[in-house]
Amino acid sequence: SAPADFLLSVEGLTVSFDGFKAVNDLSFYVDENEIRVIIGPNGAGKTTVLDLICGRTRPTEGSIRFKGQELTGMREHEIVHAGVGRKFQNPSIYEDLTVFENLELSFPRGRNVFGALFFRRDAEVRDRVEEVAEMIFLKDHLDTEAAILSHGQKQWLEIGMLLIQSPKLLMLDEPVAGMSIAERVKTAELLNTIIRNQSVIVIEHDMKFVEDIAHRVTVLHQGKVLSEGTMDRVKHDPKVVEVYLGH
Ligand code: ADP
Repeated sequence: SAPADFLLSVEGLTVSFDGFKAVNDLSFYVDENEIRVIIGPNGAGKTTVLDLICGRTRPTEGSIRFKGQELTGMREHEIVHAGVGRKFQNPSIYEDLTVFENLELSFPRGRNVFGALFFRRDAEVRDRVEEVAEMIFLKDHLDTEAAILSHGQKQWLEIGMLLIQSPKLLMLDEPVAGMSIAERVKTAELLNTIIRNQSVIVIEHDMKFVEDIAHRVTVLHQGKVLSEGTMDRVKHDPKVVEVYLGH
């Protein structure tokens, strides 16, 4: 079908680093309200794909269309503005600020804030902060200093700081790394809440977690799609078995 039918259409995407193609003529498509997980061995190109989508790395060739709009050639902040949020592995929260303040700081700024609108806007921010805090299980910790949150809570806070900007696509790099079992379960719950309005692309190594969350899995190998489909399908694909067990 036409690329505009998908939230995200990646086509013929290639990037070379000194002649080495880290991503090589890659195509994949993400639907609205989908949790897509990208898996693959180390060096497969997973991080580079997210770097390309968020504009951190420029492709050598190919196209990335998001809501029908071409993202290649746009700057990182323009891609954020277009509705793509990216979380990196290390939390970049403000440790000495509270949960509320961290979320408040991430609320997108309006262009025309006249004095008369200021208080109304304040209430709007507070409502949105509380709404997001509830989603990330931190409603009862709004006044807690971020420094004393658990590792998992810090990860959720950072996801909240992206959610408050209402991205249509959220990209997460190993969101449950270092989390307790209970935190993993809640993170799966959070992702299922998020996709009521958004789509999520997750890079993940924890296959149990992938089984729990993925609608579809894209297996990358040497910068290309090796296999794609439900986890049940790809885990029985002989090509995938060979790449994971064959060395
Ligand atoms: P993955 O996330 O699947 O482990 P990466 O996307 O990090 O894989 O890397 C894919 C390949 O591209 C690796 O061989 C890596 O060394 C190479 N690579 C990634 N970024 C750069 C860069 N900026 N310069 C040179 N090589 C890079």
